[in-house]
Amino acid sequence: MRLLTLLMALSLLVGCVSPAPYGNTRSDSQSIARLYALLARGQFETVRKEVAELSAPDLPDDLRARLHLADARALAGLKHTGSAMLAFGRAQAAVAEPGSPLDRDILRFWGDAELAAGRVRPAARRYEEAFASAPDGSPEADELSLSVAVALDAAGSPMADSWRRRIRRPRSSKLRDLESRLVASAGSQPIGAPSTIARPTPVGSRSSPSANLLPGLRSRAQWGAAGIRGDYDTMAPIWRITVHHGATRFTSTSEAGAAAEMRNMQRFHQQDRRWADISYHFCIDPAGRIWEGRSLAYQGAHAGNPELNRGNIGVMLLGNFNEQALPAAQQQALAQTLSLLSSRYSVQRGHLYTHNEVKPGQTECPGRSLQTWMDRYRGGSLAMASRQ
Ligand SMILES: [Zn+2]
Repeated sequence: MRLLTLLMALSLLVGCVSPAPYGNTRSDSQSIARLYALLARGQFETVRKEVAELSAPDLPDDLRARLHLADARALAGLKHTGSAMLAFGRAQAAVAEPGSPLDRDILRFWGDAELAAGRVRPAARRYEEAFASAPDGSPEADELSLSVAVALDAAGSPMADSWRRRIRRPRSSKLRDLESRLVASAGSQPIGAPSTIARPTPVGSRSSPSANLLPGLRSRAQWGAAGIRGDYDTMAPIWRITVHHGATRFTSTSEAGAAAEMRNMQRFHQQDRRWADISYHFCIDPAGRIWEGRSLAYQGAHAGNPELNRGNIGVMLLGNFNEQALPAAQQQALAQTLSLLSSRYSVQRGHLYTHNEVKPGQTECPGRSLQTWMDRYRGGSLAMASRQ
């Protein structure tokens, strides 16, 4: 630390004796590399201060653009969204050559900042603009197509699929990482969620789009979930919900018991069924606790095949409702879950299904008592419960 301070003092001294300290390309790239390192460490205030010190009227265009870019990223990191957007605009205006790699870098970080601020359509436009000048078929073009697709998914746009189809190397691990990062960023700011259901995000589930949707939701961290793995699809725009039962008798109202059951189920789905994760998005225990299953960022594996799972939220109630009656707490939690998810994703009442309705004649799921409850709920005779 002391060495760094000394180096900084020295570089300032050098700056004093040289009238144009940034005409030298090597020291320029060192300054920029240092700013990037500071950004990576989240030292946004320091970045802002150093950008101000480095800025001078006679800098070469691209260097000016890079400084504006660093400033914009720092502002975005500090959640000064409006100022960040202006700084991105200044960075782009300073670029010497439109369509250059630097121009694309700016657009990409700009898109990331829009996405993190919940402005998914502008984010898609930035990424799209960058894509336009990326070399055809390059890994960079793949990354940008994916970025457009994630932003359009978050906007509920059906165009997302056509962007996904442009990706030449869909299995690349770099793309998987990028996708997780972008999906988490898009999901941490639910768009247009009614304010009545907004809740402080529980610690440990910040990255999940499911976290803010349901009050009291038990996060994956709370039941000790293993990570998603292997092949999975990103969630398509949501338009339906399918209700299931667990098919094994389960009556315990203990929280630890339900958490253990979640882990059992995940182990079974990942190890025996070879699925990427627990198949359902939400599970409801007999005491009415709602547990986060697979993140809503990903398509489920509950309805029977990939086509049936597309845009389909899977909600499962622990228990076997061919044998058991449906406990009141579980009924209330289900009504609340269906009502909040339907309003968040504009799912019509006619698109609330039970498993045997999407796979007729092939399953007894969700059992008689839950099927009866669903019929009454959709028929409106449980309107009181749905308003809980
Ligand atoms: Zn089922």
